[in-house]
Amino acid sequence: MKSNLRVLFLAAEAEPFVKVGGLGDVAGSLPCALRALASTQPPDITGAGEIDIRLALPFHSAIKKLSLALQKECEFIIPYAKKKYPAQVFHTQRNGVSVYLIDGPFIPEDGPVYCGDNVIDGRKFTFFSLAALELARRMNWAPDILHANDWHTAPAVYALQLDRKTCAFFKHTATLLGVHNLPYTGQGAGKVLREFGLPPAVDSSLPAWAQDVPLALGLYSADHIVAVSPTYATEILTPEFGAGLEGFLSHHSQKISGILNGLDMVAWDPAHDNALAKNYDRKHLEDRGQNRNALLDEVGLDTAPATTLFGLISRLDRQKGIDLALEALRRRADLPWQVIILGSGAQDLEVALRQFVAEFPQRARAVIGFDAALSRKIYAGADAFLIPSRYEPCGLAQMIAMRYGCIPVARATGGLRDTITDASNVDNGTGFLFEEAKTEALEVALQRVIAAAKQPHGWRAMQNRAMEQDFSWGRSAQEYYKLYQSLIEARLRTGNAD
Ligand code: ADP
Repeated sequence: MKSNLRVLFLAAEAEPFVKVGGLGDVAGSLPCALRALASTQPPDITGAGEIDIRLALPFHSAIKKLSLALQKECEFIIPYAKKKYPAQVFHTQRNGVSVYLIDGPFIPEDGPVYCGDNVIDGRKFTFFSLAALELARRMNWAPDILHANDWHTAPAVYALQLDRKTCAFFKHTATLLGVHNLPYTGQGAGKVLREFGLPPAVDSSLPAWAQDVPLALGLYSADHIVAVSPTYATEILTPEFGAGLEGFLSHHSQKISGILNGLDMVAWDPAHDNALAKNYDRKHLEDRGQNRNALLDEVGLDTAPATTLFGLISRLDRQKGIDLALEALRRRADLPWQVIILGSGAQDLEVALRQFVAEFPQRARAVIGFDAALSRKIYAGADAFLIPSRYEPCGLAQMIAMRYGCIPVARATGGLRDTITDASNVDNGTGFLFEEAKTEALEVALQRVIAAAKQPHGWRAMQNRAMEQDFSWGRSAQEYYKLYQSLIEARLRTGNAD
C-alpha cells in the first residue's frame, strides 16, 4: 500500500490568511499546489499516495479578524526564561490542506506580522517555531519533511536537529529551509533563542557573529537549503549577495539548490481581470491599447502612441534600484518615454519620486501607496516594465508583467535572470536584461527597448512569447516534490545509521 508523504510547512505569513510580501504568496500557493500534485501525477513520479502537507502559521491579529471555521486542536506549555507560557492551537482547512494557527502570549492581540524589532519578532517566531514542533508531537504525527522558511521559522530547523540527538520522534524527519531574502537574518535575537533553550552553535565554519543568529542557525542545521531561484542559489555564495554568510554557504554549497517560485495564473490573467478597461489574451493584443489609453487618462498623461510607456510597481527599497531608474530616465530625457510609478516605502525614495515628477510633469506620474487595482491596470496598459533590482531572489512582478504582455526591462540577477530571456535571442526573447546595477547599463537598455518598440511586428512577437511562458505553481511543486523525495531517502539512510 502506498504511504502518505508528510510535510510540515512553517511560515510567518501565507495567503489568504495574511500576506505582507512574496513569502506570503509562496506559503499560500505551494502547499495547495503540492496537495494537488499527487492526484495529477502518474504513480512513478509521485511514488507515495497522497501528500499530507500541513501548514502552521502564527495566529496573527490580522488572521483573528477573519471569520474562519476553527476547531481547537490542543494546548500545551512552551518554556521561556524559566517560566511557562501556554500555546493554543486551532485548526482549519484550505483546499484540502490542514492549517494550524498557533496562539500564545508572544503573539500580540493587536500588532503587525513583523514589528521590525528582532527581539520582539524573535520571541514571537521562536515561540511559534517551537510550538509547531510540539504540535507534531502532540498529534503523534512525525513529518517526513520539515519545510521552514526564512529566519522566522529557522529556529524550528535548529531545534529539531538538537532534538534528534536525544529523542527518536524526529529521527526520520528531513529538514529543508527556504531562503526568500538572505539579508534578513533575525540578527539580535540570540538572547531570545537562549532563553528558549536554543544555545549558540559551536561550529567553526559559521562566522562568530552568526553563531546565535536565527537564519544562520537554520542554514547550518538544515539538511538542505532551497533558494527561490536557481541563480539566487549561486549568487548567495558571493560577497555581493551573501550577507556575510557567503563563506559558510560556499562551504556547504552541496546542500543548496534553487527552485523558482510560481505565479497564481488564475489570479493574474488579463483575460479575466476585473480591474481592466478591456480584457484581452495573446490573440487580441490590440485590445491592450484600450487599457493603455484608460491608464494614461486615469493618471492624467497624454495618450501619445509614438511614446514608449514604462511601468514600475515596487516596494520603495534600495534593493529595488528605483534610484537607478529615475537617474537613467533623467539622463535619457531625449528618448520618447513616459513612465508611471506605483510604490510605497522608504521616505527618501518617496521624496525622489515626487521630485522626478515635478521635473517631468508632462511625462511622469508617481502614485505613492499600495493599490492592487492600479497595479493591474499598469501591467495591462504599460508597454514595458522596469525592474532594475540590485538583487532579486525570485521576483513576481516580472512574471506578472510577462503574463500581461508588458515587456520586462530588468537587471540580470536572481529570478529575473532565470525568468526573462533577453531580446538579443531573436527567436526566444521575452524582455531586456542588463548586467550591472548601474545607471549607464539601464540607459543602454532603455535605448534598446525604445528602438524595439518601434518595430511593431517584432514587438508583438515578443509580447506573444512573454505571455506564453508557463510560470505556474504546478511546475515548481513538482520540483519540490522530487527534492522532498531525495531528502527523505537521504534522511532514512542517516537516521538508520545514527
Ligand atoms: P517583493 O516580494 O520583493 O516585494 P515581488 O516582485 O516578488 O517583490 O512581488 C511584488 C508584488 O507586490 C507584485 O505582485 C507587485 O505587483 C506588488 N506590489 C508591489 N508594490 C505595490 C504597490 N504599491 N501597489 C500594488 N501592488 C504592489
